[in-house]
Amino acid sequence: MVVNLLDFDAAGLTSWFAQQGEKPFRARQVLRWMHQFGVSDFNAMTDIAKSLRAKLISTAAVSPAPTISDKLSDDGTRKFLFDVGNGNAVETVFIPEDDRGTLCISSQAGCALECAFCSTGRQGFNRNLSTAEIIGQLWQASRVLARDAGGIKAGERIISNVVLMGMGEPLANFDNLIPALRLMLDDNAYGLSRRRVTVSTSGIVPVMDRLAEACPVALAVSLHAPTDGLRDKLVPINRKYPLADLMAACRRYLVHAPRDFITFEYVMLDGVNDSDADARALLHLVRDVPCKFNLIPFNPFPASGFERSPNDRIRQFAAILINGGIVTTTRKTRGEDIDAACGQLAGKVQDKSRRGQRAIGLARAPAPISAGVELQS
Ligand code: SAH
Ligand code: SF4
Repeated sequence: MVVNLLDFDAAGLTSWFAQQGEKPFRARQVLRWMHQFGVSDFNAMTDIAKSLRAKLISTAAVSPAPTISDKLSDDGTRKFLFDVGNGNAVETVFIPEDDRGTLCISSQAGCALECAFCSTGRQGFNRNLSTAEIIGQLWQASRVLARDAGGIKAGERIISNVVLMGMGEPLANFDNLIPALRLMLDDNAYGLSRRRVTVSTSGIVPVMDRLAEACPVALAVSLHAPTDGLRDKLVPINRKYPLADLMAACRRYLVHAPRDFITFEYVMLDGVNDSDADARALLHLVRDVPCKFNLIPFNPFPASGFERSPNDRIRQFAAILINGGIVTTTRKTRGEDIDAACGQLAGKVQDKSRRGQRAIGLARAPAPISAGVELQS
């Protein structure tokens, strides 16, 4: 059986090399070729002995998931669609900004958590991505972006930040996630700072503690509601790990975190979670958790049952948080012309869950049919 070397972090590759009777420095060399230089052809790894190259060719491969499509938005956002087999595809989005380039990657095909406003959740769960499929998104995007930029100079980075905010719940795929995170941080691979790698979770409390131990990176928590009553409906995992437990887990995480705050993500749903009273209740909820808020204008998808809060409402909501002393930003919606905005990362929605029906009962307004939306400034 051919082994996919993208499945290994440095420790895993070293022990696989040891099983082949090879020294640890060989593993480091191959790691650099693969991840720093984007090389998949063992014959091109010129400082590796010919005999070892021949052995690698017969036993191993560097195999990322094949690319189905690669689309560029008018605003520079770029969306890659990767084939992970059995009719499943996952998406990766590159978001260039003046001072950084962020790659948003997926951790699962579909998601089991069924958040009411999320098109990935609507799809239902298909399967966990392997480490190779997770890191392969960064591997592929780095290669393609460097190629299109005509190569990159030493010290320059096109992808400076990685966020696990694509499809799936990263903490529900912990064992495959950790080696991928370690590769992102490894100086022989991508060498990103812990502060520039962010895991976003809907709040799987015990696994937040495991992440803090195994590989503390920046943490974003999808809050979306100030009370258990509402969060139970919007983010059903809340029934298992309610807000008091989640806030306590955030405080514990901060002991290990590379940043001294948690980012709370909050999707702005018209008439559902966006009142002044909701904002004030949030201030009370997070009073003991050093944090920032990132308000995400809801990105509609067919039959979602929700509408995006109007811009004035979002501004007023943000003002209450800011006046309460919390740094609050509103996410600019980007890549809408190529369906690359948050929560739209499912391509064609296959509603395998019953969420579709249940969700509609929650929202005040009937389902919007298309994305006739204003862009946030
Ligand atoms: N499963 C993880 C990470 C992926 S989702 C999590 O839930 O945190 C990344 C972010 O996009 C989350 O905050 C999620 O709640 C948000 N999101 C999902 N659907 C959305 C939509 N339709 N509009 C705006 N944000 C959405
Ligand atoms: Fe899963 Fe996150 Fe979507 Fe919830 S918001 S269904 S946890 S991907």
